[in-house]
Amino acid sequence: MVSQRFRLYDIMWSMTEITVADWQWFFTEGGHPDNENIQRCIRCGLCLAVCPTYQQSYLETESPRGRVALIKAASSGSLKVSPNLVRLLYVCLDCRACQTTCPSGVKIGEWVIAARAEIEAHRRRWVVPQFLRDTIYRRLFPYPERLEMAASALRVYQRVGLEKVVRGSRVLKPFPAVEAMERLLPPLPARPLRQELPEVAAAWGQERLRVGFFLGCFMSLFFPEASASTVRVLRENGCTVVTPRGQKCCGAPHLADGEMEVARDLARHNVRVFEQAQVDYVVTDCAACGTELKAWPELLADDPEYAPRARALKAKARDITEFLVGLPLRPPQGEVRARVTYHDPCHLAHAQGIAQPPRHLLKSIPGLEYVELAEANWCCGSAGTYSITHRRYSQGILDRKMGNIVATGARVVATANPGCLLQLRLGAQRTRKPLALVHVVELLDRAYRAEGH
Ligand code: SF4
Ligand code: SF4
Repeated sequence: MVSQRFRLYDIMWSMTEITVADWQWFFTEGGHPDNENIQRCIRCGLCLAVCPTYQQSYLETESPRGRVALIKAASSGSLKVSPNLVRLLYVCLDCRACQTTCPSGVKIGEWVIAARAEIEAHRRRWVVPQFLRDTIYRRLFPYPERLEMAASALRVYQRVGLEKVVRGSRVLKPFPAVEAMERLLPPLPARPLRQELPEVAAAWGQERLRVGFFLGCFMSLFFPEASASTVRVLRENGCTVVTPRGQKCCGAPHLADGEMEVARDLARHNVRVFEQAQVDYVVTDCAACGTELKAWPELLADDPEYAPRARALKAKARDITEFLVGLPLRPPQGEVRARVTYHDPCHLAHAQGIAQPPRHLLKSIPGLEYVELAEANWCCGSAGTYSITHRRYSQGILDRKMGNIVATGARVVATANPGCLLQLRLGAQRTRKPLALVHVVELLDRAYRAEGH
């Protein structure tokens, strides 16, 4: 049964494959802006030890060094672009652990993303898969109100008990991708946070700063309590929080899947929105959104009007954990009695180089027993849609992560990214351990509220 299921899935997936008749090599139309970077690979192999996909298969073509070689060969013309090459480049998680390790500074993850953009610019799909893709990336993600309508339908599905019926039956077994998506779905709140938050929330006490809040779509839809905590913690620390109504998706899903033009349009829109908000900083509690905010100058590098404006916004962009540590934070006095460990989101530790601030915040909470996690900065296997499109690898990577988490003896796992929260929640279900998954700010918020004033 399992092999039949995978065959069906493979057939469905192959229907989306490219035609490559008129296109043979990468970067033939203008090239990647930093060609010198990829030549720096000295083939030392240090990146192999930290690459989650290589550690799953031990195949050179699924390692960072192998990907560098493939992209170099495809851009020099010695290797033709084929469906198999395309498939290999989509096996990468874009976790960027390799970039943190590489002694030569090769930007492997960024090269994979650039190669995917090349692929998508030339890819020809059948009508139905193309329509579905356009619906998701062009007609749904850029419009928060449409995303919220879709979430409402899912909420009804959960509330009327259909979710239990579907999970208890085998009805989705022939559709592994849909089944994977369904299982990731957390209990949806009554209303997304975007509809609840005031556009301006005044600082409690004397105002120190006026802060723009970039509220990620997933945080608003799936983890409103965590982002509500972010706003309360900011106000507690003397920040007036401005959450502009007009903000849209940061473009992270589009960038990861090669939809560059939509990502650029979203970046320009959000730059305008936060300029109008006139804030000292732009803070987010979503590591993926924070990474994109900081990447907009490169994304808009060829746009003379928006490149400087994106640079100005980047100078103000902060992850909530780095922002609070830099303030500095008013140390909470209330206690949170719990044994807590921390999982580094790749978008925070590798893409933004932020590892100590979340740990510092957790350790500042009275009563909290912090325990370090082995391989804390290894990917959890979420990686956007990876857990849906590459289920086997994603689950293998998640199992390794959950083994490390269980070994800490912690009952609470803190992290700082909605994708990780969803994936680790699924991991906790698989281990059948009573693990609570929270954002770092939720524990801080709890500590402030325990002060009782
Ligand atoms: S660590 Fe860097 S230089 Fe060494 S093989 Fe990997 S990509 Fe090449
Ligand atoms: S980004 Fe992650 S999955 Fe991709 S090559 Fe680097 S370490 Fe491996």
